Amino acid sequence: MPQDATQLTGDLRSTRTRVILLGTAAGPYPEPGRQGCASLLVVGGRSYLVDAGYGTVRKFVQSGVMMSSLAATFVTHLHSDHVADLFNLFLLGWGTGGHGLVSPVKVFGPGNPHALPASTPGVTPAPLANPDNPSPGTSELLAGAVGAWAYDLNIRTRYNSRTGLASLIEAHDVLPPADTGATADAVTPDMEPFVVFEDDRVRVSATLVKHPPVFPSFGYRFETEDGVFVFSGDTAPHENVVRLAAGADLLVHETMHIPYYASIGYPQALLDFFESSHTPPEDVGRIAREAGARQVALSHIGPGDPREVSDREWRRAVRSGFGGEVVVGHDLHQLAFPQR
Ligand SMILES: [Zn+2]
Repeated sequence: MPQDATQLTGDLRSTRTRVILLGTAAGPYPEPGRQGCASLLVVGGRSYLVDAGYGTVRKFVQSGVMMSSLAATFVTHLHSDHVADLFNLFLLGWGTGGHGLVSPVKVFGPGNPHALPASTPGVTPAPLANPDNPSPGTSELLAGAVGAWAYDLNIRTRYNSRTGLASLIEAHDVLPPADTGATADAVTPDMEPFVVFEDDRVRVSATLVKHPPVFPSFGYRFETEDGVFVFSGDTAPHENVVRLAAGADLLVHETMHIPYYASIGYPQALLDFFESSHTPPEDVGRIAREAGARQVALSHIGPGDPREVSDREWRRAVRSGFGGEVVVGHDLHQLAFPQR
């Protein structure tokens, strides 16, 4: 069992650019050994978060990076294991006294697709949650949370002199460009990445990835002076990920070990679903090779419990298709990239 402590790779003292795997588990159900998926890119004292699974706020603080450095958060998709701590960034990280969030944070994430995929044939689904708006996007998710937490927020602004929490959230809904023809029912179309954000340290592009039935579901590419860092989001093997990760210095890729779930008796329909929307480790290696990536880090690892599938087994599977460096992600693992 890995210790709940920072693991270090490279010389961090002289490194302005690093990626920290804050949480590395797949799935919403908590497992021992890993927490919900989230990754942090730090560039010269400014940080950028990709996803906010459960435990993100705690891991952020444990990483030693000040939450006040957070400039922007990028949500790959709205499955709960990627956003359980998204509002908690603000609710718990709402800072005073020089700690925590004190200035607005941009949040980029899927917009409202205004459609749900068809339900499974032969299955009568439960009544819709929130029938007036059953597919809220990122900005609606956050606005709804502000409303639900009004009592706490109002108390703290009225009696503890906090600035308004809502003013710290600068949400931007992302939808694929119209000319891709992508819709909630469409197969993920081949497409070129499109720019969603740029400042003086990073240029961030997104592409649709293949994670049915979730739509839209994005991967993100960060270009910096010290390298290119790509996060696959949740996806089955897809050419868009190869394109997104072209020439990357680091590809942080999701993975699921489907034979493990078969071995513990998961029904075939569920195994088929995993196969249609996630990537086996052997394919992670192939995708990294085809993209010409230098290094791969596995995150969003299923099963998350490191006793179920060993690091050696994960690494061997990825290396079957990839000759570069492979990191099997554990929470708080840091990867440093020297200044160019
Ligand atoms: Zn997902």
